[in-house]
Amino acid sequence: MNKKELDKIKEKALEDHIPIIMDDTLSVIEKYLKNKKPKRILEIGTAVGYSAMCFSDFLDEDGIIDTIERDEERVKEAKINIEKVGVKEKINIYEGDAVEILPTLNEKYDAVFIDAAKGKYPFFLKEALRMIKEDGVIFADNILYKGYVMSDYNKHKQRTAVRNLREYIKEVSENPNLETEILEVGDGLAISKVKNK
Ligand code: SAH
Ligand code: MG
Repeated sequence: MNKKELDKIKEKALEDHIPIIMDDTLSVIEKYLKNKKPKRILEIGTAVGYSAMCFSDFLDEDGIIDTIERDEERVKEAKINIEKVGVKEKINIYEGDAVEILPTLNEKYDAVFIDAAKGKYPFFLKEALRMIKEDGVIFADNILYKGYVMSDYNKHKQRTAVRNLREYIKEVSENPNLETEILEVGDGLAISKVKNK
């Protein structure tokens, strides 16, 4: 992969205020995935392809990332970026709303990265659990949402997001088949390893 192009894409995404994965969050995920050598990763929320391209480096040979994005402009940009970085054969973009696309998928994934509409996290979890492999891992980014999730913050605009993120945390914590940690890296990262599905 062309790391120089990837760096340029990262700089532009930051300039454009696209919420790409933070460096410390990426390092944590890298630690999990580097040894694991995943064959198949599912990402919900492609944006311009930055995180998917980073993850493509951790894949096993012939590994594939399926990633979903509903914003047409971002899909266009992601396709151009992926071509530039030279990882086209490793990344498969589904264009559309993940709420509609996920139920149509029937793959088995070694890892799922949830990074899209916060109000939909419980639904994304349900779909991730349906498709995760027996020794898989599910990551959820922005799980602490600027600290709102752990405070009594109740501003109207973010209320649904906060409620659903709390619901996500509750479900992964109470699920006996999962072993979950919530890390304060970046905007908060939930890591749920499957125990004995
Ligand atoms: N994972 C990317 C950043 C994703 S930002 C990275 O780290 O590089 C979140 C993206 O999710 C946005 O581009 C937004 O358009 C998309 N998104 C939000 N809700 C979605 C949904 N329901 N279906 C598909 N994409 C969604
Ligand atoms: Mg994010």
